[in-house]
Amino acid sequence: MGEKISAEQMLNDIFGIMQRLYNEMRSNENHHGDHLKVFEIFAELGRTLVEADRASFWRWDKRTHLLITTAATGTNQIVISDKTGLVGQALAENRTVLTNDPYNHPNFNSEVDKKTGYVTKSVLVMPVSNCRGEIIGAFQVINKLGNDAGFNETEDIKRLSIAAFICGMALESDIFMADSQRDNLTELKNRFGFHSDYQKHYRQVDVPMSIIICDIDFFKKVNDTYGHNAGDAVLIHVSKILASKIRGCDNVYRWGGEEFIIVLKGATVDEAANIAERVRLAVMDSVCKFEDKEIRVTMSFGCTEINSALSVEENIKIADERLYRAKETGRNRVIFKTNPEENF
Ligand code: GH3
Ligand code: MG
Ligand code: MG
Repeated sequence: MGEKISAEQMLNDIFGIMQRLYNEMRSNENHHGDHLKVFEIFAELGRTLVEADRASFWRWDKRTHLLITTAATGTNQIVISDKTGLVGQALAENRTVLTNDPYNHPNFNSEVDKKTGYVTKSVLVMPVSNCRGEIIGAFQVINKLGNDAGFNETEDIKRLSIAAFICGMALESDIFMADSQRDNLTELKNRFGFHSDYQKHYRQVDVPMSIIICDIDFFKKVNDTYGHNAGDAVLIHVSKILASKIRGCDNVYRWGGEEFIIVLKGATVDEAANIAERVRLAVMDSVCKFEDKEIRVTMSFGCTEINSALSVEENIKIADERLYRAKETGRNRVIFKTNPEENF
């Protein structure tokens, strides 16, 4: 393990890291809409502050019960169950966990060491919370350098709190951003999420891309007949069918009210129309059970292949006009060609 460094050297290292952070935030390349690169530099800061061999920052996804590294020294992203290890314990008990004898600690997960041959001698984990006091992640450092006694309960916790605090703020901001792109009712991404994905993933691709816009038929009648809560249940029911009928590389968004957009990667408009037809039949044949009622709905669909020479709005307009024609010509159908004879 390395030698202890002087206070002056450490201060200099910290200023160097802070300058890298500042430059990263200012860089033209840093417009990914998240703080992944910043977390990486902050992991480095935490490691430097407490003179540790390794550092990692973890995001807690409570929905999936997973712990995911947003940054970690020397490894790719790690995903583990939130019941696992000392990070899991720190989150479950909402407190800092420190051990300088991990192999004898009941919650230490030695799997990584067994796999890689690394020997963990000391661990310090500090949970971080958002402004509502909810735990959202944790900062972990491993193996104190140049000190066989391991991490110090007062000094190292005090130092690591700088990196843990700022990582918490950055993570909170990333979570707010992700939440703002998701619809609460259906848990699908929303319109804002669509535009964000479009800029990032759909605009410049070398395979055909298609979009399907679909809308529940006579949905107002569902609300009027069964009540608004039943309408909500139908929206959730339909969302699940849409999500289950697409592949992992495709995406479905709640465009607004009872309207959805599906983006299909590598699909021509004919292929999109076939998928839309499959979805149409699945929705038509399904039953939404709400309280003691059985509610059936149908949907109308408009499809188009994304033309990269057109703006996103122009592409959507084409699909929207086809959806409108599906409504006009009787609903519960798929329109994917401008010439009426060429549709199903
Ligand atoms: P069409 O076949 O032409 O699409 O008729 P429609 O009744 O489905 O369309 P319309 O636009 O007249 O009505 C849509 C309704 O969707 C009106 C609105 O109150 C309802 N709606 C929008 N968002 C929600 C929601 O989140 N929950 C519920 N329950 N209803 C919603
Ligand atoms: Mg409708
Ligand atoms: Mg509508």
